[in-house]
Amino acid sequence: MQIIVAPYSGFCFGVKRAVKKGEEIVEKEQRPIASLGPLIHNPQEITRLKNKGIIPRDNINDIEEKKVLIRTHGVPPEVYDQLKDKQLEDCTCPFVKKVQQIANEYAKQDYTILIMGNKDHPEVKGILGWALNKGIAFQDLEELNHLNLTGQKICFVAQTTENTEKFNKVVSFLEGKYPDLVVFNTICSATLERQKSAWELANKVDLMLVVGGLNSANTQQLADLCRKTGVLTKHIEKAEDIEEAWFDGINAVGVTAGASTPDWIIEEVVRTMEEIKNNVEEQVTEPTVEETTEMQEQWEQDMTKYEEVKPGDILTGKVVQINNDEVLVDVGGKSEGIIPSNELSYRKVENPNDFVKVGQEIKALVLKAENSEGNMILSKRRADQEEALVKLEKAFEENSIIEAEVIEVVKGGVLVDVGMRGFVPASLMDRGYVENLEQFIGQKLKFKVIEFNRKDRKAVLSRKAVLDEEYEQNKAKLWNEIEPGQTRKGVVQRITDFGAFVDLGGVDGLLHVSEMGWGRVNHPRDVVKEGDQIEVYVLAVDKEKERISLGLKQLIPSPWETAAQKYSPGSTITGKVVRIAPFGVFVEVEPGIDGLVHISQLAWERVEKPEDVVSIGQEVEAKVLDVDPEKKRMSLSIKEATSRPVKEKKEANRNESYPTEHIEPSGVTIGDVVGDILNDIKNE
Ligand code: SF4
Repeated sequence: MQIIVAPYSGFCFGVKRAVKKGEEIVEKEQRPIASLGPLIHNPQEITRLKNKGIIPRDNINDIEEKKVLIRTHGVPPEVYDQLKDKQLEDCTCPFVKKVQQIANEYAKQDYTILIMGNKDHPEVKGILGWALNKGIAFQDLEELNHLNLTGQKICFVAQTTENTEKFNKVVSFLEGKYPDLVVFNTICSATLERQKSAWELANKVDLMLVVGGLNSANTQQLADLCRKTGVLTKHIEKAEDIEEAWFDGINAVGVTAGASTPDWIIEEVVRTMEEIKNNVEEQVTEPTVEETTEMQEQWEQDMTKYEEVKPGDILTGKVVQINNDEVLVDVGGKSEGIIPSNELSYRKVENPNDFVKVGQEIKALVLKAENSEGNMILSKRRADQEEALVKLEKAFEENSIIEAEVIEVVKGGVLVDVGMRGFVPASLMDRGYVENLEQFIGQKLKFKVIEFNRKDRKAVLSRKAVLDEEYEQNKAKLWNEIEPGQTRKGVVQRITDFGAFVDLGGVDGLLHVSEMGWGRVNHPRDVVKEGDQIEVYVLAVDKEKERISLGLKQLIPSPWETAAQKYSPGSTITGKVVRIAPFGVFVEVEPGIDGLVHISQLAWERVEKPEDVVSIGQEVEAKVLDVDPEKKRMSLSIKEATSRPVKEKKEANRNESYPTEHIEPSGVTIGDVVGDILNDIKNE
């Protein structure tokens, strides 16, 4: 087994410079110093530096040390202010500094700064800071395609570790779309050299080992690049990650390393492989004649079948093994097909187990019919995309509804998972204005496809279109079904002084204040508030004028139903004066029951005007004279609830012939009242 190390690999100029500077300072200071975030993206090297006294601090508030190193990735300008009380040693790589300067200079000239890179990477966060809120980070053409920057001046830069091929594609796209464009190829030469060198080596070997931090962007780029050649690629951090089984049948292994991988880790990796190589060579045994014949037959069978398979074909297979960076799929061929983890989904794949399960049947598109090991290189992501395009096109043409999960909030809207990314503008996420789009993340919602372009693989969706349609359908159904006498559920939409408008599901009905309760309701807000879900009684429906009258009190028992049992004639009640009329006053006995005290029943002495003896709101005691639940009337007497002065009794005797034919609004005749008084006198 041959082991070849790529001529350009490992520590780059910027990282070497930062590590050297940090080591010199800590040696000179003779006490620990801090680095804001890890100095470089390599955990093993960070541990070594920590042991020397360079302590990584993720949070500015946690920094106890006096001296602070700014790492190679750089920081946004505000961080310098936040650290003004510390002694700063700026280790930002000069190449990164250059990108920050470009972003800052052009932002000041009112350019929109487009940054190709990972918006969560510290380097991109720093550049966004220098772009003075005029920066937009994007990861690929698809994301860029959703941005509408028409009429804006564009300055395009890239994260220093980005891929050149991708950069060139983006430039072609931007040139065709934005006339006011300036482009700076900010991909660093160290990155380019490492990518070129890894690409050339990957095309010559059977297995590529890419060594470097799993969180290192440039190492990830190298691994992706090697996989694109179709060669089996393993991204490892250290020698201990190597598995002996990887080297079965391997003739040549290539080794490359990210710009933040120190030489000592690369040396350990090579040493470990040398040991494996010796073991493998010792263990090789020749197969028997029978085994050889069997293998030959199997191979011929597989070959016949596989001669027909070509790149672009979509195959169905079963997942047989899930590794950290690839998934093996049995597609019935001579060997398993390989899906590199970045080909599992267009979403970020951190753990392949989140996307497939062993035994699961999946579809995958053939990227390469056979690599140097005889494995087919497959992509589930692209097969899903092909399937999604068919589904989207059908939904677009038929104006049908599709379900999709909201996965990300982006500028101007959200991205949804439709087997590929679909874009929903913010204004089409609901029927009204949506303030917080984050609330939809993770939700599976219904959409219509309102724009579709197969060539550009672009789909624009609308949830509003679905909601509008549902609204119209509900409205028509409601008008068809609603009848007086029904009880319906609704949501209080709007409150006015005279009532509340209740949405019954596409149509609003009016709940008048007088229909809200049996008692007196001063304002509709005392009973309901906007957003309340309530049950209402349909009082009247006018389909022509599209008006619906609703009631609430009809759904609760009337207090008159039990009034006769509760208030028998002769019993005493306490109530409040709620209305004064020339002929008497009305007293609220309980909400919904007002009793009349006739002017003659207000006091033993003669009363000219009711206002002379009572006032609105006054609490009074009164005797029940009569209750008529059917007519909803109750007659009361305040004077009967008090003891009669002696002078009044004599007066009463003199008035025995008082006329009795006059009928009061309460239904009690004055004769009844006088008769009662005479009885009282007799009893005395
Ligand atoms: S990869 Fe390039 S930009 Fe990044 S630290 Fe190294 S030299 Fe600087």
